[in-house]
Amino acid sequence: MEKVKCLIIGGGPAGYTAAIYASRAALSPVLYEGLEPGGQLTTTTVVENYPGFPLGVDANALMTDMRKQAENLGADIRRGVVTSCDLSHRPFSVTVDSETTLEAETVIIATGATARYLGLSSEQKFRGLGVSACATCDGFFYRKKDVAVVGGGDTACEEATYLAGLCRKVYMIVRRNVLRASVAMQRKVEATPNIEILWECNTREVLGDAGGVTGARLERGNGDIFDIKIDGFFLAIGHNPQSALFKPWVATDPEGYIITDGRTSHTNVEGVFAAGDVQDPRYRQAINAAASGCRAALDAEKFLKQ
Ligand SMILES: Cc1cc2nc3c(=O)[nH]c(=O)nc-3n(C[C@H](O)[C@H](O)[C@H](O)COP(=O)(O)OP(=O)(O)OC[C@H]3O[C@@H](n4cnc5c(N)ncnc54)[C@H](O)[C@@H]3O)c2cc1C
Repeated sequence: MEKVKCLIIGGGPAGYTAAIYASRAALSPVLYEGLEPGGQLTTTTVVENYPGFPLGVDANALMTDMRKQAENLGADIRRGVVTSCDLSHRPFSVTVDSETTLEAETVIIATGATARYLGLSSEQKFRGLGVSACATCDGFFYRKKDVAVVGGGDTACEEATYLAGLCRKVYMIVRRNVLRASVAMQRKVEATPNIEILWECNTREVLGDAGGVTGARLERGNGDIFDIKIDGFFLAIGHNPQSALFKPWVATDPEGYIITDGRTSHTNVEGVFAAGDVQDPRYRQAINAAASGCRAALDAEKFLKQ
């Protein structure tokens, strides 16, 4: 059976950065990329907020370069999905594509989190063309335009108030007749003049043309159907952290985010570390994911030395 010192699961900014640091620390890391080599950023076009690129950077090029950088430093990056594991004792046992099992002295989990969508075909059609699940990432492209935010929880309120600072008008599309958000967040929304809440509304369809989103067709609780004109349609109905495989051993919060110890990447299992969106319910940005990948590799290195 193949034995590795440091096994990294996930080929996004967190995983590749962990691989860069682990290679330089002579841990000979092996990284499995799963079904989405390059991670979530490969589903967007330009990244304007990753430092070091005065004119922004093509998202796919950024991820290809991170991968190359890790490989040039010696990381062994492989296609393959981790399908099961046993983290009950060291060395840990990790199975890839249900057929190959490896033994790992340390494991870095960097499997990311996927945004929840409503499940409309029109929503998928306009993904990246006006439909987004990240206001921090994409809000800037809608300056002085009208947008809608779907959701009624804290995240939706935060995204709406953030967008209200950039956009002309922000509709909040809320299923119920109350917000689920904390009272403080509700007050913030109410105090923002360019946010209009559309109560008891469900989205039937995202409307658009070759240029992208132009509106949304909504249905009120009483069955009335009406359209709003918007340029951007933001989902804020939560994320699914990709942590299910590890849950029998690794502690998570109620939403499934892996719990790490303070400012480190340590999980409750000694020798298992977590980095990136899978352990970050709050920031979910590439720069944070990369930084936590660095922490995980440094923590793994220190752990192995002890
Ligand atoms: C449309 C969009 C636009 C965005 N724009 C920006 C932006 O402009 N700026 C910014 O900073 N951030 C942006 N983000 C957020 C950013 O992409 C994430 O914060 C970042 O990618 C998280 O990195 P990660 O490494 O934690 O996880 P991810 O990028 O999600 O990567 C997870 C990796 O884990 C792999 N994986 C999952 N399960 C398994 C498994 N079982 N076995 C093996 N591998 C597995 C996946 O294949 C993938 O390679 C955007 C996100 C989206 C969706």
